[in-house]
Amino acid sequence: MLDLVDLGKRSFSAYRGIAPDAQLDEVLRLAERLRGVRCLHLNATPYGGGVSELLRSGVPLLNDLGIVTDWQIIRGDEAFFHITKRLHNALQGAPGEFSELDKATYLAHSQLNASHLSDDYDFIIVHDPQPAALPMLGGRKGARWIWRCHIDTSRPNPQAWEFLRPFLGAYDAAIFTLPEFIPPRFPISHIAIHSPAIDPLSPKNLTLPEDLARHVLSWIGVRTTRPLVTQISRFDPWKDPLGVIAAYRKVRAHIPNLQLAMVGSLALDDPEGWDVYRQIRDATANDNFIHVFTNLVGVGNIEVNAFQALSDVVIQKSIREGFGLVVSEALWKGTPVVAGRAGGIPLQMPEGTGGILVDSVEECAEAVLHLLQHPQEAQCLGEQGREHVRQHFLVPRLLLDFLRLLDSLVHEKPLAPRGLAVVHHSSPSP
Ligand code: UDP
Repeated sequence: MLDLVDLGKRSFSAYRGIAPDAQLDEVLRLAERLRGVRCLHLNATPYGGGVSELLRSGVPLLNDLGIVTDWQIIRGDEAFFHITKRLHNALQGAPGEFSELDKATYLAHSQLNASHLSDDYDFIIVHDPQPAALPMLGGRKGARWIWRCHIDTSRPNPQAWEFLRPFLGAYDAAIFTLPEFIPPRFPISHIAIHSPAIDPLSPKNLTLPEDLARHVLSWIGVRTTRPLVTQISRFDPWKDPLGVIAAYRKVRAHIPNLQLAMVGSLALDDPEGWDVYRQIRDATANDNFIHVFTNLVGVGNIEVNAFQALSDVVIQKSIREGFGLVVSEALWKGTPVVAGRAGGIPLQMPEGTGGILVDSVEECAEAVLHLLQHPQEAQCLGEQGREHVRQHFLVPRLLLDFLRLLDSLVHEKPLAPRGLAVVHHSSPSP
């Protein structure tokens, strides 16, 4: 068996009064219809990045709703994860060649992972390209298969896409964040569009008392009496960390005591992150106003929460982006955001809501400076951003989209009787 990620329990009823009632009621109605259905989510890493963030909340909530749900992690060695990271980048349009050896390594790991799958599930949801070949190589295991693509695959590198495309023909349905992300000649027709969402009750997003948030940041050396701008991201070239540093330096020419925090996590399946981390360290060496933090020194959810709550402006200068959960996370705290006009970011910040979208280092610097110099406007943008997130990007809305998809697949082809087996994990909260 593959490694199972153990998660605690969550109570869906706790979202009443936070997320819109209509969404909560519809989730409960659909969950009742689908009660006992068994789902498996498969991805490459239990931490770091948006996918693990989504599953950490979504999986226990589905169990609470009576949808029996597991989360398993595929296995791979360093060579495999180097290839899958290059594949991920290539699917977002980066150049790169895949040798016969690369392909053979990918296939061998996929075959091995597929051999560890059990046939206990009605639905298997595969996240991103790392485990994408499993149903083709290992058989369907009696399940419906859904490929959930979290990245921008609108203009994939042709060689990478031709390699991956045949494996996707084995799926029953696919989910993308935006219709524009569907790659050319996608092999199946059942496609759903779901945007990701944040969990307002997780330690990362709950409301921290302001003095506690200040203590958290002071303890790690941030001067909370000085202005602060922050980018929180995996260390990844698509998040343009060097562009953030360049924009910050332009703003600091006007606001000399401005601090920048670059908070980043290094993930298991992300060897490239280490190179980017070194580039950031080199670019910021000897600058006492720039703080670089990683999960490796214990900067976790509470620190991320405090940075998002207390920064004057949060930056997310992505060049390519699937969705960018960090944008909704910052907006949920009422903090204005300056972000790259990429992927799912504009969905979160429609005109005049949440902050300013930018296309270059210069625009980024101008926007940050403008918000720092106009705090009332910045506050107003942040407040509107929070309401937009409440309506569209909290986890109950994501569960609703997901249950609607399962419901439509069951409707197309009813499950065999075992598919509505007795719930063996948990029962819904009252
Ligand atoms: N994150 C974190 N610590 C870090 C950097 C990122 O906890 O040092 C989290 C961040 O808060 C967000 C997720 O990782 O929840 C990143 O998701 P996003 O969709 O923004 O980007 P992805 O990494 O999936 O490209």
